[in-house]
Amino acid sequence: MLNGEKRFAIIGAGMSGILCAIKLKEAGHKHITVYEKADRIGGTWRDNRYPGLTCDVPAHAYTYEFAPNPEWSAYLVGGDEIQAYFEKVVDDYGIRPLIRFNSEIAHMEWNGDHWDIETSDGHKDQAHVAIMATGVLHHPKFPDIKGLESFAGKTMHTAQWDVDYSLEGKRIGVIGNGSTGVQMVTKLGKDGHNIVHFQRSPQWMMPYPNFEYSEEDKAKFRASVEAIDAIRYDETYWANIRRFTTGITDIDGPEMQSIEDICRGWLEQSIGDPVLRAKLTPNYRAACKRLIYSYDYYGVAQQPNVETIVCGIREIVPEGVIDNEGVLHKLDVLALATGFHTDRFVRPISVKGLGGRDIEDAWAERCAAYMAISIPDFPNFFLFNGPSSPVGNFSLIDVAERQWSYVEQLLNRVSTSNASGIVASKAAFDDYEARRIAAAKATIFGSGCTSWYLDKTGVPITWPWDYDAFADAMAKPDFDAFDMV
Ligand code: NAP
Repeated sequence: MLNGEKRFAIIGAGMSGILCAIKLKEAGHKHITVYEKADRIGGTWRDNRYPGLTCDVPAHAYTYEFAPNPEWSAYLVGGDEIQAYFEKVVDDYGIRPLIRFNSEIAHMEWNGDHWDIETSDGHKDQAHVAIMATGVLHHPKFPDIKGLESFAGKTMHTAQWDVDYSLEGKRIGVIGNGSTGVQMVTKLGKDGHNIVHFQRSPQWMMPYPNFEYSEEDKAKFRASVEAIDAIRYDETYWANIRRFTTGITDIDGPEMQSIEDICRGWLEQSIGDPVLRAKLTPNYRAACKRLIYSYDYYGVAQQPNVETIVCGIREIVPEGVIDNEGVLHKLDVLALATGFHTDRFVRPISVKGLGGRDIEDAWAERCAAYMAISIPDFPNFFLFNGPSSPVGNFSLIDVAERQWSYVEQLLNRVSTSNASGIVASKAAFDDYEARRIAAAKATIFGSGCTSWYLDKTGVPITWPWDYDAFADAMAKPDFDAFDMV
């Protein structure tokens, strides 16, 4: 038995972990430890520092609800500014002393009424509740391309960017055109670098202009939170989110038709050259992969310093990249915008739940959690932005805040009972997963393209219903779906 006041372990000091630490501290809990494997907070915003990194969600919406920020410099802001925001929130809310840096959790085991926790350097701890804020876009994926390691120039994955390395005068090859590759090519192309952009599959683009806030705007934001809320809860912004989340679930409905029309129209009006337009035209439906929000990419793709290669890569050699037509593209730098292993949720932490059940066993077929939060046999083990959590072109902070409200209600249920923990029942999980998988296959994400939204069996790992359904589900847990342990 682990007696005494409730102890909490939060794994990860990124956006979700910071949120949970603040909420638990504000609720009066005294024993909260945030385990962070790196030496800084920030998660994805700490790791990603590639040129052009921007959040394509409006800054005032990509902000904790309780910590508005009148100082955002623009409608969409860069990664450095977001990292600085999180650093400030951590200090403003006094949670830095709760964070144990350079502490990677290696092992967790449920032991009757608590989790035994061990870090990779042998530190041991115990906690009644484990909050898994370990992120999803976290483990960089290197492409399996012949000769990659033979390249004689500088190779960098976008999530491991060497910010001290000068790109001046260098010829840069960028592999990948997800949100990351497109942001990077747009920035480097605008800055006048010579770029060869290798695209395996063209992407649909949603035009999304950015603009800076003036000092006058910021003064208005400082003076009134209503001015900030007018942007955060802006009707057009939310109408776009609803159009998107309704569209992905009703793939032949008017919302998806409207998204497709905008993307196709933007391509046609932006790219005059029929050869380049053909190269940039996807052969799958808009929003099947995560939509790219960009206003400037098509313009940059037509600049003479940017070359777009769509015939595929044959191999990489010391001098550069040989494409499938046999052309050698000589390069000094190879930027790998090739995404992440998005099926690694929680792992490589080894986790054993009730009866010693291994998370690898629970997730042998696919990563899954009831309501994206709880896994049968893993009591008081709550996932943030985990499998089947909503993903798309909206604020994951809003998603995490709603998930917190759900988890908080589960914790309150434990506190007002004689039980030690709470966990989704097997029956509720099975029913949820059966419904979710059937719905997920019918979403736009399952309409015939490859993307990180698909699990290894080809089923989208995402929330397959609309955003209001998610908001409703998070607002009020169905306690009948849970077992008390
Ligand atoms: P991604 O969307 O997974 O894209 C990876 C890219 O690499 C794809 O274009 C893929 O081509 C290509 N690729 C992978 N392996 C390859 C290979 N062997 N040969 C050639 N090409 C290869 O990764 P990402 O762009 O880093 O974005 C991941 C997610 O991060 C986004 O979807 C988004 O959720 C998030 N993100 C958000 C923002 C934001 O502004 N909010 C910005 C950046 C990233 P295929 O398409 O053909 O597979």
